[in-house]
This record gives sequence, C-alpha cells and structure tokens, in this order.
Amino acid sequence: MSNKKVLVIEDDRDVRLGYHVLLKSSGYDTFFAEDGMTAVTEARKQQPDVIILDLGLPAGDGFVVLERLRANTSLSLIPVIVVSGRDIHSSKERALKAGAKAFLQKPWDDRELLTLVRQLAGQSSMSASST
Ligand code: CA
Repeated sequence: MSNKKVLVIEDDRDVRLGYHVLLKSSGYDTFFAEDGMTAVTEARKQQPDVIILDLGLPAGDGFVVLERLRANTSLSLIPVIVVSGRDIHSSKERALKAGAKAFLQKPWDDRELLTLVRQLAGQSSMSASST
C-alpha cells in the first residue's frame, strides 16, 4: 500500500516546514513547489492525490495556478485546497468558483487541515462517492 501524495504550493519556508511536519507525521508523502511557475510542473511530475495551494505566490498567484491546473486534463481532477490569509470572503468565493474543493483560512487549524486532506485524498482514489 503506498502513501497518499500531497503537493503543497507555498512560498513561505516556515509555513512549508509546518506542512512537512504535519503531513509527514500523518503518513503522507509530501512534495513542495515554491511559486506559480514550478507548481504545475511539479503537479505533473508527482500526480498528487491532493494539492494544497497558497494564494499569495510569486510568479503567478494561486488563482493563476488553479486555472492552469484546471486546464490540464491530467491534473484537472486532483482536488485542490486553497489556503489564504487575505480577503477571506472574496477569495473563498472566487477559489470555489474556479474549481477548488475547499478553502482554508490562515492560520489553519491542524486538525481541520488533516480532515480535509483525508477526505479529499480518499475521494480522488475512489471512482464513486456515496454517503
Ligand atoms: Ca504566500
């Protein structure tokens, strides 16, 4: 059984470290991209089960990345959790409209984040979800 893969797109080194510790200790293989340019390349390479996307990024913000992911057939189905600390209401609406599965406000709660990742990682590996 292989671990689920999570790709984290985040430019802040300390925040990346936080994700690394949290996700790794929860059994996820964690990969990182630091800007909008490498985000899509990395997603293509790793084919993650879940993507965690920060909105404030250099070289193309999170919305640009989200658009690029959705436009790519091999990546468009990967669930994306958008994370942001600014303009919560407008960002959330815009992110969900653009195809994000979930929106998390910074600073996120570890348990909340893990629950989301678990839900979405499970979702992407099953062909049908019924509850
Ligand atoms: Ca950022």
